[in-house]
Amino acid sequence: MTRVAIISQGEELLTGETVDTNSAWLAEQCWALGVPVVRMVTAGDARAEIVWALEATASVAGLVICTGGLGPTNDDLTVESVAAWAGVSVVQDSTALAQVVARFAARSRSMSPANTKQANMPTGAEVLENRWGTAPGFSITHSGAYVICVPGVPTEMRHMFHAHIAPLLLGSQGGDAPHLHRIRTIGVGESRLQDRLNGVDLGGAELGFRAHLPEVQVKLRFAADVHQSHREAVVAAVVAAIGRGVYTVDGGDLPTEVGLRLTAAHATVAVAESCTAGTLTAWLGGVPGASRYLIEGAVVYANAAKIRSCGVSEAAITQHGAVSEAVARQLAEGIRGRAGSTYGIGITGIAGPDGGTPEKPVGTVHIAVAGPARTDHHRFGFPGTRSQITQRAAGLALSMLLEMMG
Ligand code: ATP
Ligand code: MG
Repeated sequence: MTRVAIISQGEELLTGETVDTNSAWLAEQCWALGVPVVRMVTAGDARAEIVWALEATASVAGLVICTGGLGPTNDDLTVESVAAWAGVSVVQDSTALAQVVARFAARSRSMSPANTKQANMPTGAEVLENRWGTAPGFSITHSGAYVICVPGVPTEMRHMFHAHIAPLLLGSQGGDAPHLHRIRTIGVGESRLQDRLNGVDLGGAELGFRAHLPEVQVKLRFAADVHQSHREAVVAAVVAAIGRGVYTVDGGDLPTEVGLRLTAAHATVAVAESCTAGTLTAWLGGVPGASRYLIEGAVVYANAAKIRSCGVSEAAITQHGAVSEAVARQLAEGIRGRAGSTYGIGITGIAGPDGGTPEKPVGTVHIAVAGPARTDHHRFGFPGTRSQITQRAAGLALSMLLEMMG
């Protein structure tokens, strides 16, 4: 099986100015296709560094994917570095030039001499068309490795991967991709998930976790020839072992799933947010078609706003404090009444880093969900930074809503 190595290229990656999301994304794609990634290297804008990276990767992998450094500026050195490594010259490639000229013409932009540079290729390289940007990619074989260079711009890199690299990886396995199933969970940490899965028969599947606030995904990868009924049985066993917290298998993200459920139930929702300050409303509103079920979102930060907008009683605030079960319930019920929605969500908490007390430390968040039959409430103690606490609170609010919908 092909072993893959990834080179990310650019000084901005070494200074920390840009986070190398390209390598992570490529590695995830390779994993899903069942192709092992054995090394990742980052090189700055220096020919010697890039040549070293090519040596370090070509020695361990059959396929090297290199992102970045294909642009028109002088610090874009991938072409000349690959040529130096392969011991060939750099030539202007007529195919590449035609593609660059066509791109500029299509955008009615004039070409500068620097853009012509993007048609330079190592001699013997095969040009890979880039329909999503100006710089074509290329591939070349040397030292027993097949090296594919694509632009660093993440959207272009992803398109290039799907167009030129994924088919190759699939082909290297006889055209059969492994089957990947994603069990998406909310409110259960990675270590607890691992505990719950201990002893579960995975039927030969490979298990992976992906933590992406506010959720953790459990990924099961089956070989291409594993039958659907077998996969479904294993997925069902895993879902049963995890129990509470699973919100979808192979579905969309949390706001998307909530939207589907609300739509199917012809139900609507309104949100009153204190500490999350609009995050939950933005999530809900970020899903296409949200106008079918999202009635309104109120950001009620000050006590006066909670009272004025959601009918929270002054007594509840004085007696229990703004961060309390009573206020969360009144926010949920108040916004539900005002909006005339099926469900109302109230969130109040301490996102920190200041403002905590021994009784109500930073991360204390009260969430209530009001529905036609009852109002549910939970008090959470979330770890993390202000932004992490916000994300967790918004995520758990949606999870509580799903639970109420049954
Ligand atoms: P361009 O034609 O835009 O110059 P390029 O192939 O030369 O393309 P770079 O100049 O290296 O690419 O990067 C272009 C953009 O893509 C920059 O905004 C950069 O921050 C971003 N980028 C580059 N490499 C990565 C990476 N590994 N992860 C995430 N973003 C990246
Ligand atoms: Mg560049």
